Amino acid sequence: MKQRVTILGATGSIGQNTLAVMANHPDQFELFAVTANGNVADMITICRRFKPRYAVMADKQAAQRLQQELADLNCEVLGGEEAVIAVAADAQVDTVMAAIVGAAGLLPTMAAVKAGKRVLLANKEALVMSGQLFMDAVAKHGAELLPIDSEHNAIYQCLPLDVQQPLGHADLAAAGIHQILLTGSGGPFRELPIAQLAQQTPAAACNHPNWSMGQKISVDSATMLNKGLEYIEARWLFNCKKDQIQVLVHPQSVIHSMVSYIDGSVIAQLGQPDMRTPIAYGLGYPKRIESGVQALDFLQLGELTFMPAEAARYPCLQLAIDACWEGQWATTSLNAANEIAVAAFLQERIPFTAIAEICDRVLQQLSAVEITTVEALIELDTKARAIARQQVEQVS
Ligand code: NAD
Ligand code: MG
Repeated sequence: MKQRVTILGATGSIGQNTLAVMANHPDQFELFAVTANGNVADMITICRRFKPRYAVMADKQAAQRLQQELADLNCEVLGGEEAVIAVAADAQVDTVMAAIVGAAGLLPTMAAVKAGKRVLLANKEALVMSGQLFMDAVAKHGAELLPIDSEHNAIYQCLPLDVQQPLGHADLAAAGIHQILLTGSGGPFRELPIAQLAQQTPAAACNHPNWSMGQKISVDSATMLNKGLEYIEARWLFNCKKDQIQVLVHPQSVIHSMVSYIDGSVIAQLGQPDMRTPIAYGLGYPKRIESGVQALDFLQLGELTFMPAEAARYPCLQLAIDACWEGQWATTSLNAANEIAVAAFLQERIPFTAIAEICDRVLQQLSAVEITTVEALIELDTKARAIARQQVEQVS
């Protein structure tokens, strides 16, 4: 039986890579639905080539345009967030690739979880902003969660089966695990004099040395808030305690992360910096399928180096680590503030270094609240965004 797949965020970097892997295995996967926000041109190309049953645009006007363009195709075009949610939860779907960027992915990803799907999680912001609620929903509804973020996919591959399943509920120490070692390249500004950070442009921030990714995550990699979000993501996915995660800068991005065991063994996953590898792992699990990525050639490989993340260069990383242990209110607020700040930076309204300042100020202005429902976290997300917008006005 073929796996029926919905791709949320099909026009993005992860979405396109998912389509590329699936295209190599037409006997194993069937494309049920693709979704995007407003990018009609790329959706037309995708639908003509991959012939999904449903094509959904979150933007309803974009959906109308797509419908006219695809009138000759046997593909149902739908519009609006409700339709994105519907194709994530449809009873005919086996697997959902959650690859919308940012908080916009929360409700569709949650819908897939609540429908008990195999959920391939790329959309880290959804987990960061909902944490315990997300993991509880996975357990309650019997969803199968597989991490696609390359670091978490690497860690997953280095874990024993009884920690992999059910994910997020094992006791790491009892499984003989000392620490999760989360690696990150340090982004494009790793060696720049710190005094020059404030003048960096969006184009420079998006020019990642190793990975080709969407704009938002590229900026997050430059501030290393991406590693901070991944730290929070790791905490939830692997049920880590505070002393069980360590961040390491590893500029070559060859080791995608590691697990250190109490007997002195360290298990690492290595590979090319190409998202088709973790995507193929998630699609094929527990089998291995070809991804189109070449194995590493160790004779061509240069040095592998490691260093700590400098606090003065990456203030966003510490903000995220502190928020992780402060509580859900802090991680939801930080994620929201960052989305607003990064969007303002990409529009050249604020300097690069203001991203961390805005995130910090938003956290300062909010106080701890208990979050026990999705409604409460969306309310807090909205409030944090409003404060972040005020801060953007003050800076710009
Ligand atoms: P991208 O910007 O390339 O694509 C984002 C996708 O989300 C697009 O299809 C877009 O149409 C859709 N989208 C955006 N706003 C939307 C909205 N309001 N409603 C519905 N759909 C919306 O992003 P990406 O780089 O593919 O990243 C996607 C997710 O995967 C992010 O959460 C990112 O952190 C994560 N991720 C990406 C990579 C990578 O290599 N690109 C690696 C690890 C994790
Ligand atoms: Mg990553």
